[in-house]
Amino acid sequence: MFMNPTDLAHLDGQICTCRLCPLSLERKLAVPGCGPAPAEIMLVGEAPGREEDLTGKPFVGRAGRLLDAALEQAGLERSDVFITSVIKCRPPQNRKPKKNEIDQCRHYLLSQIEILHPNIICLMGNTATQAVLGIEGIAKLRGRVLQGRYLITFHPAAVLRNRNLMNDFVSDLKMLNARSHPLV
Ligand code: SF4
Repeated sequence: MFMNPTDLAHLDGQICTCRLCPLSLERKLAVPGCGPAPAEIMLVGEAPGREEDLTGKPFVGRAGRLLDAALEQAGLERSDVFITSVIKCRPPQNRKPKKNEIDQCRHYLLSQIEILHPNIICLMGNTATQAVLGIEGIAKLRGRVLQGRYLITFHPAAVLRNRNLMNDFVSDLKMLNARSHPLV
């Protein structure tokens, strides 16, 4: 599918100036996401944290460093994947995004998916899975590929809190490599 880079730049501009929900009042910077375009692999997290809010870049804090390590173990580099989140502005004190915030913001993620047209989309955690597929239950869903295109895994912050999840997390990310090319 043809991807017009201007569409992505235009969307980034809309996100960075968005005032659709109250999270715009306290953010320093919105975080649209970044990575190759078009992208074969997309990773979707929950929302920016403190360091992301300060830099405008996705997954640059402790969870981001863990994600980098897990990607490396899975044979991937960050430059191989487009990384974004459901919510593009930091919720205060890193609280969970509210339903109305997700409802207001979701269309940006859906537009990114449409523009970038990734072969495989990794939904990291319940918020991303719920926002995109309308289901949750990470314990049952992780490691599964749904609708031929959505791989469900843990959020890196959950792995940071419980290192016992790391092996499963890496194993899920390894599946991204295998599924990153369209079947011919
Ligand atoms: S979180 Fe999303 S909807 Fe809310 S202000 Fe930021 S970009 Fe807009």
